[in-house]
Amino acid sequence: MPSEHQILNPATEEVIATVPATTPAEVDAAVARAARAQAQWAALAPGDRARLLRRFAATVDTHLEELAQLEVREAGHPVGNARWEAGNARDLLEYAAGGIERLTGAQIPVAGGLNLTLHEPLGVVAVIAPWNFPMPIAAWGTAPALAAGNAVLLKPAETTPLTALRLAELGLAAGLPEGLFQVLPGAGPVAGNALVEHPGVAKVVFTGSTGVGKQIMAKCAAGVKRVTLELGGKSPNIVFADADIERAAAAAPGSFLDNTGQDCCARSRILVQRSVYDRFLELLEPAVKAVTVGDPAGPATGMGPLISAAQRDRVRSYVPDDAPVAIRGEAPEGKGFWYPATVLEGRPEDRAATEEIFGPVAVVLPFEDEAEAVRLANATDYGLSGSIWTRDVGRALRVSGAVAAGNLSVNSHSSVRYWTPFGGYKQSGLGRELGPDALAAFTETKNVFISTEEQ
Ligand code: NAD
Repeated sequence: MPSEHQILNPATEEVIATVPATTPAEVDAAVARAARAQAQWAALAPGDRARLLRRFAATVDTHLEELAQLEVREAGHPVGNARWEAGNARDLLEYAAGGIERLTGAQIPVAGGLNLTLHEPLGVVAVIAPWNFPMPIAAWGTAPALAAGNAVLLKPAETTPLTALRLAELGLAAGLPEGLFQVLPGAGPVAGNALVEHPGVAKVVFTGSTGVGKQIMAKCAAGVKRVTLELGGKSPNIVFADADIERAAAAAPGSFLDNTGQDCCARSRILVQRSVYDRFLELLEPAVKAVTVGDPAGPATGMGPLISAAQRDRVRSYVPDDAPVAIRGEAPEGKGFWYPATVLEGRPEDRAATEEIFGPVAVVLPFEDEAEAVRLANATDYGLSGSIWTRDVGRALRVSGAVAAGNLSVNSHSSVRYWTPFGGYKQSGLGRELGPDALAAFTETKNVFISTEEQ
């Protein structure tokens, strides 16, 4: 394993930084430091912890543009998206800070005494993040874990550690105790695995591929370690004939091209009722071609490059020369990991229609009726998100009840709000992040009964 990682700008292939790879011995030392800081942090008054986290959020806010520009360079995200991502990290810190004084227990009536149900921090939490949304996903785990009184060791993806490292510096500058929030860049099978196996780590929050998630869950099982998994997706975008077809077609490109399709919620299976199938494709083509592809720093850019050459090869493998391409966008020539927007026609059993591609490629499939739409939507091991386009309220409720996914939207593709729960059904994950219960997921519940009988 390399002792350091070169960080490339995926739009230019230039090396923009070199970052040391954390060794297992360094993970060990980091866990010990984190445990000491956690004891100090948990002993603070809730109001003091809230104040420090708010100050962390305010520090992120004053560095928003710097963080966004860093995300543009290391992840190739269009600058408008990167600004949203930095703002999302700030919002999570603020939201979690607001939850600290509201993390109450319960007093449940019992006979012969007083029963107290209490929440205690877990201790040291490991957050293992992917490269597709480096800043938001780092914050989704870190902010509520810190707010609930834990220390956090964050392992960013090999390709995108820079914003995470900067966030840790900003946390220290805001006054977080030394060691409370540490970023440990490095290889998944080395630094990540050392965290997962470490007896001093009480919980692992993993966001990444389903394959690695299964391995991590098995390792956590060995120590009955707490684990939250946010994994892959192959989400449907279901367009019924009674929908506003113009709106559905205009919105569809964003749902599978945003972040160059490297989005766990990407609606990469477009299911269209047969009677409007041809009309929908006619409308979709200009909408796909209108997305501006190019320099992520450009203010009008809608789609940047893929993260790496390996990811581009993977995406290409789903579109062989004889693939049934219905729509093809453009991509820059030359340096950078570019891939054009692509819509395939095909069959439900095709590899491109069943596997997560994680690139700007969608498959469009016709269906006859509501029952077939639901069957196709559920014909996958994943269950993260999905969209339903219809003007019929009854149908919207029936179909959203029947589709097995954690985050559905009707006449919209919106899946993520920091104040509403997020997570997957089936092999898309385990547990939920964000929303009002986010802090509780980082606590252990303790019940104490105090007898009132005379001694
Ligand atoms: P990945 O599984 O390859 O890596 C994710 C993280 O795990 C990285 O930090 C990596 O270094 C680390 N890792 C790899 N092997 C490890 C091991 N053996 N032990 C411990 N850590 C290890 O995933 P990726 O390619 O970085 O991200 C893309 C995947 O993430 C996609 O499948 C996508 O759907 C998923 N994702 C899911 C969500 C969600 O919320 N459900 C959000 C974003 C991305």
